[in-house]
Amino acid sequence: LSSRPEKYDRLVGILADVVNLRHAAALLYWDQQTMMPTAAAQARGHHMATVDKLAHAKLTSPEVGQLLDDLKDHEATLPYDSDEAATLRVARRQYEKATRIPPDLIVRISLAGAEGYVTWRQAREANDYKVFQPALERTYALMREVTEALGWEDHPLDALVDEFEPGLKTAQIEALFDDLRATLVPLGQAIFNRPGTIDDGPVRRHFPSEAQLAASQEAAVAVGFDLDTRGRLDLSVHPFTTSFSPCDVRITTKVDESFLPTSLFATLHEAGHGLYEQGLPVAFQESILGEGASSGIHESQSLLWENVVGRSRGFCEFFLPRLRSLFPDQLGGMSPEGFYRAVNKVQPSLIRVDADEVTYNLHVMIRFELEKAVFDGRLSLGDLAEAWRAKFKDYLGIVPPDDLSGVLQDIHWTGGFGACFVSYTVGHVSGLQLYEKARAEIPDLERGFARGDFAALREWMNRNVHAHGRKYTPQELVERATGRRLETGPYLTYIKGKFKDIYGL
Ligand code: ZN
Repeated sequence: LSSRPEKYDRLVGILADVVNLRHAAALLYWDQQTMMPTAAAQARGHHMATVDKLAHAKLTSPEVGQLLDDLKDHEATLPYDSDEAATLRVARRQYEKATRIPPDLIVRISLAGAEGYVTWRQAREANDYKVFQPALERTYALMREVTEALGWEDHPLDALVDEFEPGLKTAQIEALFDDLRATLVPLGQAIFNRPGTIDDGPVRRHFPSEAQLAASQEAAVAVGFDLDTRGRLDLSVHPFTTSFSPCDVRITTKVDESFLPTSLFATLHEAGHGLYEQGLPVAFQESILGEGASSGIHESQSLLWENVVGRSRGFCEFFLPRLRSLFPDQLGGMSPEGFYRAVNKVQPSLIRVDADEVTYNLHVMIRFELEKAVFDGRLSLGDLAEAWRAKFKDYLGIVPPDDLSGVLQDIHWTGGFGACFVSYTVGHVSGLQLYEKARAEIPDLERGFARGDFAALREWMNRNVHAHGRKYTPQELVERATGRRLETGPYLTYIKGKFKDIYGL
């Protein structure tokens, strides 16, 4: 029995301060997005900057560096899977990343981000990428500095990919996209050639906001999100999830009164993130292990509940009667099969956040290909808007008529450039890989959905994903849960099976 050195307890105490400060910052952010009076924006910016600064100073203090050094021998004696070893692993990783980036670079990034956001808003107003380009040039130059500060082996983008998806490399991401491109581009074409197959008119009627919120709340509770004592559902402009412990998880949604799916599926998406957060061990509450494995693994959970469950035949059969009782006039004549088809309509779209399951990853792929071309020196930022249009024509057969519906649509490039979107695709791919394994292990899983029974899936995800917190990298987590490395097979099989059936291909 290895005894726990005092120095380990000292380190864990400091990390608890870091984690508590991060959660306090998260609460300030939640309030800013949901409740705060608008005139408080500037003061709130100061509050958050101070708390962030304190958390960063705690994490990067010389004492933490010294403790991590002193604990190296102890760490080598610990089993890899132990909470202690994982805590030291994750703390070391975060300490090294945070100390490699010089403080002045952090300040310049944060200033450029604030400025970039303002310039992006102006460019959107002018509907002109050229207005935004100088800000993006600055951001790109800063990101190159970050890659040099963090270090990389095969490709500078590896440093940025690793920020979001620890352990994954640019080459692996490219291999995923090669698979997706080969299947999704022709599948999309075949579907686009069959317009009029699906009538989504009934979900485009008028649906009053209050009843939609009642429906969203019911859907979140149905999949197991605890809204009773450990969670909240509120409104915000962009739906998001945040948490301050597994016992306090906040999700938000938004409502479109002329399109029923917006609120329902945004809520199921955030409830998926929320189940992950509520499913983290309470013992990790103040631990550096008390968060999801990566952005991509977090997305695997949200996309699972939004798409694989929420947009399944079983869920539609279960939930349509609930919706019909709230909206008898609008949905009175709708069948479960009609509803299932309406919420799975595929069409080439210009806007990523409106994209369906077949085309979504093409939107992500386009952004990644452009980012990589810039890093490889094959594309200059002056030609970005034109290159964007060319890729949309190639992959989706449509060309954005202006920059607003093209290169200026995402907020992500106001604060970063390089690997801003890859987590969405890692989420789709890993989510289906996890789901396929769960389905193989749980008899009659999908028949349960039609009865409103989601417990078996939720518990499987809890055991195999949520319960580990941040102990494992995405690759390790997927491999432990499924016995295989991250692969596109299950995702592509699911997409082809579902949409060939719906579109009669
Ligand atoms: Zn999400």
